[in-house]
Amino acid sequence: MPLTLPVDIDSIKGFLAQDEGETLYQLAAEVAKLGPVLEVGSYCGKSTLYLGSACKLHNNTLFAVDHHRGSEEHQPGEQYHDPELFDAGAGLMDSFRSLRHTLRSADLEQNVVPVVSPSEIAARHWQTPLGMVFIDGGHSEAAAQTDYQSWAKHVVSGGILAIHDIFPNPADGGQAPYNIWKRALNSGLFEALPTVNTLGILRRR
Ligand code: SAH
Ligand code: MG
Repeated sequence: MPLTLPVDIDSIKGFLAQDEGETLYQLAAEVAKLGPVLEVGSYCGKSTLYLGSACKLHNNTLFAVDHHRGSEEHQPGEQYHDPELFDAGAGLMDSFRSLRHTLRSADLEQNVVPVVSPSEIAARHWQTPLGMVFIDGGHSEAAAQTDYQSWAKHVVSGGILAIHDIFPNPADGGQAPYNIWKRALNSGLFEALPTVNTLGILRRR
């Protein structure tokens, strides 16, 4: 399936390489028949644009979960802080306004359901089987493990679990995403597909 995005991907702030985004798009297109897609960590909508566009093409839905208050590294004074996304009135990060802008400009409002909530709270009453889950939320060990615990079990047989920021070598980056990738593999529930850049991919048996 050729990749056609409705807006310039470089105009959207975010943390996703092009090869990773294109892979997300292809995977979401492939699992459309199995169930809806859910991502944890939308930020301004870069991954959302790839996943949502694939969902739109196949009449599927993407649930885009993010509390929009930023991860550790997005807070004031931290490495990836963006003052344009800081809500001075609230004294908090707020990337939701930017996500809404992305969804509207890409005409994805009929295919993407933003869930503005901590991942753990959004998962509390979740029952819908999912064709694909993409985990790209908080990178503390606790946050990553909670995301795995909350969402991996909802991936249907044949469906995809994708995890961003996989760094097998600790010198290259934090280990929490890699640890849940290994947890998925060790669970026996998933088989690993080849990693694309830092995108870990597993298929539910
Ligand atoms: N996928 C995005 C980047 C996500 S950055 C892209 O393609 O650019 C990580 C995001 O995870 C941040 O927006 C942050 O607010 C969100 N996040 C961190 N911890 C979270 C949690 N516990 N629940 C929900 N969202 C969380
Ligand atoms: Mg990431």
